[in-house]
Amino acid sequence: MNCPISKRCGSCQYIHMDYPQQLIKKQDYCQKLFPQLNVHSVVGMENPYEYRNKVIVAFNQKYEYGLYEESSHKIVPMQKCLLHDEETHKVLAKIQSLFRKYRMSIYDEHKNRGFLKHVLIRRAIETNQTLVVLVATDGMFKGSKNFCQELVKACPSVQSVVLNVNKRQTSVVLSSIEKVLYGKGFIVDKLCALSFKISAQSFYQINHSQCEKLYAKVAELLNGQKDQVVLDTYCGIGTIGMSIAKNVKKVIGVELNKDAYKDALNNAKMNDIRNISFYNEDATIFMQKMAQSHMHIDSVIMDPPRAGSTKEFVEAIGILKPQSVVYVSCDPSTQARDLKWFQQIGYVTKDVYLYDMFPHTEHVETIVLLSHKSPESTINVKEEFGEGEGKVPLDLIAERAKKYQPKPKITYKMI
Ligand code: SAH
Repeated sequence: MNCPISKRCGSCQYIHMDYPQQLIKKQDYCQKLFPQLNVHSVVGMENPYEYRNKVIVAFNQKYEYGLYEESSHKIVPMQKCLLHDEETHKVLAKIQSLFRKYRMSIYDEHKNRGFLKHVLIRRAIETNQTLVVLVATDGMFKGSKNFCQELVKACPSVQSVVLNVNKRQTSVVLSSIEKVLYGKGFIVDKLCALSFKISAQSFYQINHSQCEKLYAKVAELLNGQKDQVVLDTYCGIGTIGMSIAKNVKKVIGVELNKDAYKDALNNAKMNDIRNISFYNEDATIFMQKMAQSHMHIDSVIMDPPRAGSTKEFVEAIGILKPQSVVYVSCDPSTQARDLKWFQQIGYVTKDVYLYDMFPHTEHVETIVLLSHKSPESTINVKEEFGEGEGKVPLDLIAERAKKYQPKPKITYKMI
């Protein structure tokens, strides 16, 4: 399909290619990254359009809105983006007409003056709910009541409007300061037959239908058993952990972002999942604490951001020695680096599974299952116990056993 602004916008690097060609390109890329591994065909979308459930746009002084031109802060005005659904466009168009009507002051970054910096839209596709986040330089939005009333009247899918106050001159869009202008400050979506609260700052997979396929593969590779304790690291709002909780004994999630962590706690309650707990901490520090406490962990799921994980995280896995690690990645190049660290601690993998979460862009999501290399050979030692030559006296066995008794375990106090 043709996009009139694709050249200037630059977000969809592959839009000029047929979709099957895009998938081949992604697979070739991964095959080069993982030359020793069996790279499976990419699981693509039937209809690779309108799949994104989140967009952040900026406005210019003419009230045109769009994404920034590649590596610049020039807005490329858009009417319709092929990656977003009708409702997103309808809400954006209404916001634009209200900004015009109320003569909203638009932020000018050169002069560092003005009120409105960005608009973030989040859609819950299954429930048809919309969250609108207005990012502004000030917490005082005069006329916000009328603005919200008019917006909700024209677009009933809008369940909440949040004002995010970001005074800093930075390319980071959101600050931690928020004021709910309308609704509850979050929307609820359904994913894998569970409900999830999504607030402005929390991570939520942007491609709903592909996400369900991705999580189904994670569950298949994890092969959950009723006695299994699983760590869901970099867990976001707890979606992966909750989707596999019913198959295992216990899930422990860890997430750095406070809002996502709070959403995760609420989500567990909302879905009445009781065998899951969450910790708001850096995943590496958390894993190191777990390793120090010699916690027993059967499996680890990891889904780090693009930067990948850390060597220290992997080293902690080397101490915890789970049977399996399911590694989900949104940047296979950092995953390839991390797999080398896994190799050093004796974890191996054979297959890479590819999911196209981001059609028309150069990005691809990958999953690998790592397991501990089994010893090449075993040594059988035959000993006879009792009195007599060549036999091991029984009273010595008790003493020997004492030497090998495990030291008392310090349990990680938060768990
Ligand atoms: N597994 C989730 C989220 C994956 S995105 C899902 O499928 O939705 C990666 C997540 O890692 C984000 O929620 C991000 O906030 C979190 N994160 C980033 N750095 C982290 C760190 N150092 N420790 C723990 N979580 C981190």
